[in-house]
Amino acid sequence: MDLFFHYLSMPYLIDGVGYTLLITVLGLLGGLAMGLVLAAMQLSRFRALAIVARTYSIIFRGTPLILQMVFCYNALPLIGIKLTAIAAASLALALNEAPFIAEILRANVIGVDRGQVSAGQALGMTPAAIMRRVIAPQAIRSMVPALGNEAVSALKNSSLASVVAVQELTLRSTQLASATFDFFSIFFASGLIYLILTGAIAVIQIVVEMLLDLDRPPPREQLTRFFRALLPGREAAPAAVSARPVPTGAGEETVPAEPLPPPSAKVAASVRVDREARAARLAGNAAAVEVTALRKAYGANTVLNGVDLGVRTGEVVALLGPSGSGKSTLLRCINRLEGWDGGDIRVGGRSLDRAPDGRALPPRAIAQMRASVGVGMVFQQFNLFGHLTARENVAGPLRWVQGLTRLDADRRAMELLERVGLAHRADALPRHLSGGQQQRVAIARAVAPNPSVLLLDEPTSALDPELVSEVLEVIHRLAVEDGLAMVISTHQLRFAGEVADRIVFLSGGTIIEEGPAAQVLNAPRHPLTARFLSKMEGE
Ligand code: ADP
Ligand code: MG
Repeated sequence: MDLFFHYLSMPYLIDGVGYTLLITVLGLLGGLAMGLVLAAMQLSRFRALAIVARTYSIIFRGTPLILQMVFCYNALPLIGIKLTAIAAASLALALNEAPFIAEILRANVIGVDRGQVSAGQALGMTPAAIMRRVIAPQAIRSMVPALGNEAVSALKNSSLASVVAVQELTLRSTQLASATFDFFSIFFASGLIYLILTGAIAVIQIVVEMLLDLDRPPPREQLTRFFRALLPGREAAPAAVSARPVPTGAGEETVPAEPLPPPSAKVAASVRVDREARAARLAGNAAAVEVTALRKAYGANTVLNGVDLGVRTGEVVALLGPSGSGKSTLLRCINRLEGWDGGDIRVGGRSLDRAPDGRALPPRAIAQMRASVGVGMVFQQFNLFGHLTARENVAGPLRWVQGLTRLDADRRAMELLERVGLAHRADALPRHLSGGQQQRVAIARAVAPNPSVLLLDEPTSALDPELVSEVLEVIHRLAVEDGLAMVISTHQLRFAGEVADRIVFLSGGTIIEEGPAAQVLNAPRHPLTARFLSKMEGE
């Protein structure tokens, strides 16, 4: 036993640990840097880059590390690259780790919900901004466990550096053992040292996971709580009141009567202003959206087949139609979340698809165009950024896209959250809000940059029935107060009747009927519209 402790603290072995750690750290950092490049190449729009990255992965994942180490140390000098043993081993480890780390990065980037990307795009964020502000923060959280695994395996793999005579722990242990024949104690001691090192990695992993856990209060608060709990005679409970409200259940909390001014009766009354006067006023407004002869197919499936639609500034158009009729696709084409095959779309007189000279716009230019023409979107699934509080969901894009200062963005965010009756939940994460609350935040986020056109894709379809009215009320108010053009696809007929100036009925990718809301709802001319309306009313 004494011998075992002797080896455990022997400078000869401890020096070996130094080399082991050096190679591991260099290998991991190099692997991370190269992994980032490989993942970016594979995720890139350019196929050639993806193919090069994939080929590299196949080669370096498919050959033994020990061979790569020998190659770096013995073969590279033949082409004039002479490396020390430590450099060669670290390089080989980095080359070998890179494809594994790249796959971890790629898997976690792909794993972020596509809706988050759509939301970022709809807000006018460029692809780089979406990666940095939306995807990376969420992907990093989920990749920590896999990266922890990778660090442990790199540490153990560093022992292979003994083949190129790096004086790391394994080599020194075997040397010592062959000199003393004290195999058991030496290998037991060196095994224990490896365990301590990998244990340290596990502890680092746990700490990083804790720090990145959004459901935990900030680290400083955790420390305060910890110390308060240690102090006798002090109530620990008050410390539990966190700056970030503690989650209240799994999400769908029962929503108490919230301050949602003004009451709906008042709104409804103001909406029922003279419809004809409003229609006459709207007729003089400029065109906000012009869709002409729009055609769009997914493969052989023609989804939109010659759609013509004009929406004027201040006009509210309700898009009705059976499921699969192309409503979402039409809305996603209007803000160019989808490309199309024929026809043209102009928002505020400008194309989001092509430059004035007819060339297709690259994604970055499309994003800038979205922000500059001002076209906001509200999604069926809310698509709030999951890692950000309600306030940050609204304020973030104002800073990143509109360039507001933090102070101004926060002020505007609070103003809008107040408007949708959620100022008191400003610091809550989306998953701690009910569906109705999430959608109200999403509406606040979409209107924060003052868009001229707001697209709403079945904004209440994913909600429990009792949460529908709070969202409709917010939309109602926007329609009355804000004077922006709205295109809203919905199954809420009564709501459409109250809010919409015009109803457009879509079926099988074509508009088969459109007209003033009252006329289409009460006296539909097309039998398909009539059948759809009676079915919806029957529900
Ligand atoms: P709606 O919103 O009216 O229910 P959608 O616009 O979502 O209709 O869909 C219209 C048609 O397009 C459907 O047949 C649907 O299956 C198809 N579709 C929608 N999105 C895609 C896609 N990304 N790839 C292939 N087909 C799609
Ligand atoms: Mg849809």
